[in-house]
Amino acid sequence: MKYIIYTLGCKVNQYETQAMETILNSRGHEACTEGEIADLVIVNTCAVTAEAGRKSRQAINRLKEENPDAIVAVSGCYSQLSPDTAQKLGAHVVFGSGDHDKLVAAAEKAFETGEVTREIDNPLQRRVFEELPAGAAEGRTRALLKIQDGCVNFCTYCIIPYTRGRLRSLPVKAAAEKAAELEKEGFKELVLTGIEIASYGVDLPGKPDLADVICEIAKAAPKLRLRLGSIEPSVITEDFCRRLAAAGTVCRHFHLSLQSGCDTTLKNMNRKYDTATFFEKTELLRKYFPNCGLTCDTIVGFPGETEQHQQETLEFLKKVGFADVHIFPYSRRPGTPADKMPNQIDRATKAKRSKEARAVGAETRKAFLQAQLGKTLPVLFETKEGEFWQGHSDNYVLVRCKGEDLRGVVKNIKIGLVSGEILVGTPIDE
Ligand code: SF4
Repeated sequence: MKYIIYTLGCKVNQYETQAMETILNSRGHEACTEGEIADLVIVNTCAVTAEAGRKSRQAINRLKEENPDAIVAVSGCYSQLSPDTAQKLGAHVVFGSGDHDKLVAAAEKAFETGEVTREIDNPLQRRVFEELPAGAAEGRTRALLKIQDGCVNFCTYCIIPYTRGRLRSLPVKAAAEKAAELEKEGFKELVLTGIEIASYGVDLPGKPDLADVICEIAKAAPKLRLRLGSIEPSVITEDFCRRLAAAGTVCRHFHLSLQSGCDTTLKNMNRKYDTATFFEKTELLRKYFPNCGLTCDTIVGFPGETEQHQQETLEFLKKVGFADVHIFPYSRRPGTPADKMPNQIDRATKAKRSKEARAVGAETRKAFLQAQLGKTLPVLFETKEGEFWQGHSDNYVLVRCKGEDLRGVVKNIKIGLVSGEILVGTPIDE
């Protein structure tokens, strides 16, 4: 079969897509080239917001139209939540956020016999981590490894616990082995991802934690630099920071799930910390990882949020001084407690508050970029941009420099210039 996979959503969805590609290729199927008509279309859907659901439906319709004779298969959180809708849209194979290898087998059967399959389980009853082949994220330099699935935090705005279910983790030994394989394949960076990696290991015998698996991976693949996916502040302790710093290969970039800089709103979101605790965690990270890039996700316009609450969030973003902030206007998600809350905020106010928060984020980002001047940063080069090589520093900034073939090379670069969002520098002779 010639296939197309269209992916929406998070790094975990991206990981599961590359795993389905790996399984399809290993069974002799081929990805379509640009403009080629497909025999199989897979849409890996997302349900994190109502908008993500709309885009998932839109993608199913568009790809069906562009590939009228193709088998249509759907997977991911939206089809987990709304399998009837996916079927009504004409999907022949309907799976949820699990069983990706079974989906491929069902798609083959549909192609050969026309038999349709719908297999939607109850994610809250899942017990075992779905081990899938690990692989490339971007090019041949950065790989992704999913080490955890599920979430039981039940933040009031979030549907994910209902689509991803109970906490499940990839055993430490398996994670270390996969990392060693990826290092042998020549990858230079490994992104450790999951739905809620701060809860890594709570389901495993002996309850190894996130620091345990990171340290084992660092030992098994010492040449790989390790980048963490989004983390909950709960996991950041003195011990966690000390052990990760001692591992020696963890990138100084931490993407934190903040969600609000106002304690009242955090409580209404059912978040498990207040701003004072969160701030302490950022100080800990800065103590053990000097010049680290702290980035965050923040929601504005949450039900009940007042102008005063918004000001508190803006002040808090300034106080932490994030290297980058991802601002999301609150999006109602049917099936979540927040969707039923009174005092929903109107679209115009959400837009105004998003603009204000992004402006603060732009200021703190500018300050972070300026602070890199004169510093030396280890950069993994990925692409050639004109006469420059370009890559990401470990504290997650785009850096350019001139030089011989640097693709897939990690080099120390002394920063001499800030050019918009990009730092420019010169290689330090080792
Ligand atoms: S931690 Fe909260 S926001 Fe994140 S997946 Fe779990 S419930 Fe959703």
